[in-house]
Amino acid sequence: MKGLGLRRSSKQIRIGNVAIGGGAPIAVQSMTKTDTRDIKATIKQIKGLEDCGCEIIRVAVPDMQAAEAISAIKKGIRIPLIADIHFDYRLALESLKAGADGLRLNPGNIGEPEKVTAVVKAAKERNVPIRIGVNAGSLPKTANPKLSIPQKMVEAALQQIKLLESLDFDLIKVSLKAFDVPTTIEAYREVAEKIPYPLHIGITEAGTPRRGVIRSAVGIGILLWEGIGDTIRVSLTAPPDKEVTAAYEILKSLNLRERGVTLVSCPTCGRAEVDIVALANAVEKELEKLNKPLKVAVMGCVVNGPGEARDADIGVACGKGKAVLFKKGKKVRTIEEKDILKVLMREIERW
Ligand code: SF4
Repeated sequence: MKGLGLRRSSKQIRIGNVAIGGGAPIAVQSMTKTDTRDIKATIKQIKGLEDCGCEIIRVAVPDMQAAEAISAIKKGIRIPLIADIHFDYRLALESLKAGADGLRLNPGNIGEPEKVTAVVKAAKERNVPIRIGVNAGSLPKTANPKLSIPQKMVEAALQQIKLLESLDFDLIKVSLKAFDVPTTIEAYREVAEKIPYPLHIGITEAGTPRRGVIRSAVGIGILLWEGIGDTIRVSLTAPPDKEVTAAYEILKSLNLRERGVTLVSCPTCGRAEVDIVALANAVEKELEKLNKPLKVAVMGCVVNGPGEARDADIGVACGKGKAVLFKKGKKVRTIEEKDILKVLMREIERW
């Protein structure tokens, strides 16, 4: 185990203006859930994601019309765009022509070598990286039956890397995703030792937010703790901004990135005389709009509140009918219960 601070060293690539690997900050990405052919809706969704800190966006390219839409989408957004391609190499070529900053594909499902060569050549001309995305659910049928699933995933990735390298292409990023967390961890650990390329990490089809966030946090968190992972995507059956928020919470929990306000709130107990659950949720909702590197605490009682949230920049510790406002663990003044949210938000905005 490497432990934090010792990130695996990897070759650096660039997706548009975002560096991946080679010590660059771990980039947060997401995927649109709109029909890519609906340019207006797709731009709208991406702009919303940009506002919550998404740094790279991927769009599905199921047909030519979707590939062609990329150029118009690119004009309406600021972050780099990756085209997600399956099977048809012409979609990859068209996406590159339309200005995609990255491709996600499996050279293995593109078919004949000439087709792969054509895509690789076009990507190379434009300096566009390719992510080899291996999925436990769609492993090659030719895989050695004696191998375990993680080993089969690594084998599949290595074969595809070899194919790209044989075409003198090294702008490679790799992902090995599975729903099963131990499988994912084992596969990434193994591939991390074998290749120099940056890794895109995530738990695939993690599910609805309630379960998916936990599953992703465990899987992605363990890998990041071991120094593995250069860009992350949290896959959730939910609007994509939830994926971005979850990704930052994972990175923030490990002190790997800072983004927005960190909310500390006590679990509440028999000492609390104010509805802390409602208050903390209301504060969280307000804080979603802010991007300040600030730690805010919402605590249930004056006895333990400020002490328990000593390292918070600003916070409230509630008591009967009122709350104490504190900064850096020191009491500043008292607030009436009805004004808690308003005063706290005003203080945060002023900070
Ligand atoms: S801060 Fe007070 S109310 Fe909240 S859990 Fe601690 S003791 Fe209970």
